[in-house]
Amino acid sequence: MLKIENLHAEIDGKQILNGLTLEVGAGEVHAIMGPNGAGKSTLAYVLGGRPGYEVTQGSVTFNGQDMLELETHERAAAGLFLGFQYPVEIPGVSNVQFLREALNSQRKARGEDPLTGGEFLKLAKEKAALLKLDMEMLKRNVNVGFSGGEKKRAEMVQMGILDPKLAVLDETDSGLDIDALRTVGEGINAIMRQPDKGVLLITHYQRLLDYVQPDKVHILAKGRIVKTGGPELAHDLEREGYEALGEEVGA
Ligand code: ADP
Ligand code: MG
Ligand code: MG
Repeated sequence: MLKIENLHAEIDGKQILNGLTLEVGAGEVHAIMGPNGAGKSTLAYVLGGRPGYEVTQGSVTFNGQDMLELETHERAAAGLFLGFQYPVEIPGVSNVQFLREALNSQRKARGEDPLTGGEFLKLAKEKAALLKLDMEMLKRNVNVGFSGGEKKRAEMVQMGILDPKLAVLDETDSGLDIDALRTVGEGINAIMRQPDKGVLLITHYQRLLDYVQPDKVHILAKGRIVKTGGPELAHDLEREGYEALGEEVGA
């Protein structure tokens, strides 16, 4: 479903991704781990088409479609969802307004009818219940005054509503307490563990992977994938750290 080949990308003329190759099949969850500054967030931004990130070589295809030639909103309409470490706050716009707008613009781009207010609220309630987020939170302005855990739950509700084909989640587990971690992990499973969907889970810690069990674990270092294994690789890393993997990994 997602095929990244020999990807090279730079920011401000500085090369960050350096020949990254990775393939995620439908129905699969892949974890990406790696030292600070390895290029993990850069990969997420490049997949999302964020301005300033220039691809200089390589390709990214999504269900056979060249992703790199699509605009950011076209990638979203094609089914890509990006979750970030620091969700933005949008004063003056409620979560409900924001999410309905986002969903309906994606539906429009796919040639589908927009949801009515009533249809949307029903969907939002269902997803909020799944993530144990109070509907009252969704009526508040986007992320304003939310705790770290509430932001992440709200982001997972957003993912549930948009119902993407591929989710790229960058350190979704950062700053979560144990209960929020479990809820978010179970939310990812409920929303994304489906035969036609895929997940790229960027994380520093093994603990999220106790809830969302990856099919594969990759280590990203110095802008490329340097090692791939099964779930045991995350346990090895937790125990031994990146340095034990040698010079190729050491950042
Ligand atoms: P990770 O998410 O793996 O910690 P990042 O993708 O955030 O790593 O960063 C990879 C490298 O790119 C780092 O060396 C970082 O300093 C550099 N970098 C990130 N953003 C910028 C930027 N806007 N301008 C210049 N360098 C950047
Ligand atoms: Mg970092
Ligand atoms: Mg990062």
